[in-house]
Amino acid sequence: MRLKRMMIVDVPIILDDGSIVHYEGYRVQNTLSRGPGKGGLRFHPSVTLNEVMALACWMTIKNAALNLPYGGAKGGIRLDPHQHCKGELQRITRRYTSELGGFIGPARDIPAPDVGTNEQTMAWMMDTYSMNVGGTATGVVTGKPVALGGSLGRHDATGRGVFISAQEAGRRRGVPIKGARVAVQGFGNVGSVAARLFEQAGARVVALQDHSATLVDEAGISIAAASEHVANTGQLAGFLPGAEASTETFWLVPSEFLVPAALEGQLLPERARLVETKIVVEGANGPTTPAADDILSERGILVVPDVLANAGGVTVSYFEWVQDFSSFFWTEEEINARLEKIMVGAFDSISSVAEERRISLRTAAFIVACERVLSAREQRGLYP
Ligand code: GLU
Repeated sequence: MRLKRMMIVDVPIILDDGSIVHYEGYRVQNTLSRGPGKGGLRFHPSVTLNEVMALACWMTIKNAALNLPYGGAKGGIRLDPHQHCKGELQRITRRYTSELGGFIGPARDIPAPDVGTNEQTMAWMMDTYSMNVGGTATGVVTGKPVALGGSLGRHDATGRGVFISAQEAGRRRGVPIKGARVAVQGFGNVGSVAARLFEQAGARVVALQDHSATLVDEAGISIAAASEHVANTGQLAGFLPGAEASTETFWLVPSEFLVPAALEGQLLPERARLVETKIVVEGANGPTTPAADDILSERGILVVPDVLANAGGVTVSYFEWVQDFSSFFWTEEEINARLEKIMVGAFDSISSVAEERRISLRTAAFIVACERVLSAREQRGLYP
């Protein structure tokens, strides 16, 4: 499938010390056949156009696999958000939003948070777009603060979807959550929420890793205490000095569920050969390399692919966009119940295709998604 459109924009801003820096920003619209573009905006020092292109393609697959009425898109700016104060981040976000001009919008392309961005980033994008068009347009982004047309449950939605997928996979493989050992890589919006839900359901988080530390504790790490430490210090390091281990140890800790919820390319072939787990649930986008994926499947380890496992975020983004259009907001119970229904339904249909054709869940998700995209494309026809 050919890529629809990509934009590279210069994002110049004045820093607080009076100097000027230029950042490179991207927005890639992979397909728009099934609806407006949809996908997050990433702030990270390793962002490249190639990475954003891959992430936009995964959004096409994810949105179609879940049957959300969207194409696929992704944005990014190559910068380290930790090196900027709030005022500078606001200027960067506003300039980037203005540079994208009319290519984004509630019926065109709808950004959302991703690595390095959050509700505040979305509030600035919504305000900038609204100022430029001359009227409040809440539906231009999702993942906004609840006070500005955001949705209840959106903050936890990706982690909740990861947990729901783990439950479904566990049910099929005869691996109960209660009493299970879980290893979670990444303690941001996805990893921390998934870890909390696992813990609440009676699992033990025996390994936890972020950019600063790897923690291993067979008795289970307290997620509430870890979250409090991270809220105060910004990282896991220093939380349990006695439980700190080397980076590679993380992959060796025996578990029933392994949840890579950090960045792409983490589960490498050499790690896939060593992991001792039953089910990998991909919280991040693209955490398993193709060669590692083959090794896991040869070893009989079930992989719940990113395009299914982490789709809870964009599913509640869809709910947010629908609520914004009608200016009528649902309760958190309604949102969580609808999220569960969509996630379980998608898991069911993708796993039936996988069983019928004796293929992996990832290949099955791609087949289901590509059939939907191609059918939409065919029915729309070629213009002119
Ligand atoms: N950034 C999230 C993802 O990768 C959410 C995208 C969205 O809500 O549009 O799925």
